[in-house]
Amino acid sequence: MSAPWDVIVVGAGIHGAGVAQAAAAGGHRVLVLEQTGIGAGTSSRSSKLIHGGLRYLETYQLRLVRECLRERAILLAIAPDLVRLQRFHVPIYGHTRRRPWLLRTGLSLYGVLAGLDRNTRWGQVPRARWNTLDGLDLNGLQHVFWYQDGQTDDLQLSRAVMRSAQALGAELRIPVRMVGAMLTADGITVRCDTPRGTEEMHARVLINAGGPWADAVARRIAPAVPVPTVERVQGSHIVLTGTIAQGIYYVESPRDGRAVFIMPWHGQTLVGTTEVRFQGDPADVAPTASELRYLQGIARQYFPRFRAPEADRIASSFAGLRVLPGGDGHTFHRSRETLLVADRERSPRVLSIYGGKLTSYRATAEQAMARMAGSLPVRALVARTREIRLTPD
Ligand SMILES: Cc1cc2nc3c(=O)[nH]c(=O)nc-3n(C[C@H](O)[C@H](O)[C@H](O)COP(=O)(O)OP(=O)(O)OC[C@H]3O[C@@H](n4cnc5c(N)ncnc54)[C@H](O)[C@@H]3O)c2cc1C
Repeated sequence: MSAPWDVIVVGAGIHGAGVAQAAAAGGHRVLVLEQTGIGAGTSSRSSKLIHGGLRYLETYQLRLVRECLRERAILLAIAPDLVRLQRFHVPIYGHTRRRPWLLRTGLSLYGVLAGLDRNTRWGQVPRARWNTLDGLDLNGLQHVFWYQDGQTDDLQLSRAVMRSAQALGAELRIPVRMVGAMLTADGITVRCDTPRGTEEMHARVLINAGGPWADAVARRIAPAVPVPTVERVQGSHIVLTGTIAQGIYYVESPRDGRAVFIMPWHGQTLVGTTEVRFQGDPADVAPTASELRYLQGIARQYFPRFRAPEADRIASSFAGLRVLPGGDGHTFHRSRETLLVADRERSPRVLSIYGGKLTSYRATAEQAMARMAGSLPVRALVARTREIRLTPD
């Protein structure tokens, strides 16, 4: 039987959308299967930053930071209505663990990894201007560093990438849940639950972009494909009523030294994130009471106005799941590199994406397609994803 589809993608988060776009841009016939909705998983519950990740320099993840900064530059160029540069402020107090020398070193290296373009400028906010910083607590404040990074609306970005994939010919089916798959001599047959009942479809390759469900998706494939040991780590955010106007504040939790963002978000203030090991069904992830208290405590610590009972109302909250390689030690220090796992070295039929960043989705999609190229028919290139303009709804 010849495959009606070149590529079936499971999942319409940012990675599924990105792979669908890259595959369709490569001239392939693409079908995307999504059980809930575009971006309904992690891709609408992130910190919404398009960034290299300054803090990953602390764990020497230089390759990751460089790749994300390169992708940041591409997204600022192709999606100017979806991704914009924000000014980030890093306040240093007597109790702050990351001292000024570390900030200066980190920001210099960050600039070099970004190619020293005009977006890599950084400096210190003069003391005379500290009172313009949204009511930041000035008590014991010693320095305020600033630099620039990107902010987006993750759901809007995922939808824009998927729309672009569809414009290139990809077909999207929702709600359709992949429940099983069988590897065949020339590809893979996928079994799905659809509103019309169970259906089967055949493709040359399957890309598993199931996010926190990716290992469960891989386990439904027969004969068994390799599944790495991964951990799911919950990250929560709260949205406080009242807004901040001068940009994003990158602060340190006084309790455990973790870096936390306080960000303007649709006229309110977004605070996140946390890191709590998660077990159970990814669909059930939700912020816990202690995470809400932890985040609220950080907002109050740095912005006295959030200490007033009427000003610190939690308007909403949400939680997402990071997929990290299994290992010992605190998850904060664990690698954030994306893991691509194929069923076999030569002519792979399945590729699973574990972990990754919103920021680097396009690079990940290109790497996924490059990995599968030998298993796909040669098609005429239709477009290059680094040149396709992305626009909001
Ligand atoms: C708290 C938190 C903060 C983050 N902040 C940032 C940030 O600021 N910047 C950044 O760059 N990255 C950030 N990330 C990382 C980034 O958000 C994720 O890497 C990215 O969203 C993962 O996208 P995905 O497409 O792999 O997964 P998801 O978005 O979870 O998509 C998976 C999809 O697969 C579907 N699916 C699963 N199983 C099936 C099935 N059997 N059949 C059909 N469909 C199925 C699900 O419904 C879902 O829609 C953050 C992550 C977390 C958790």
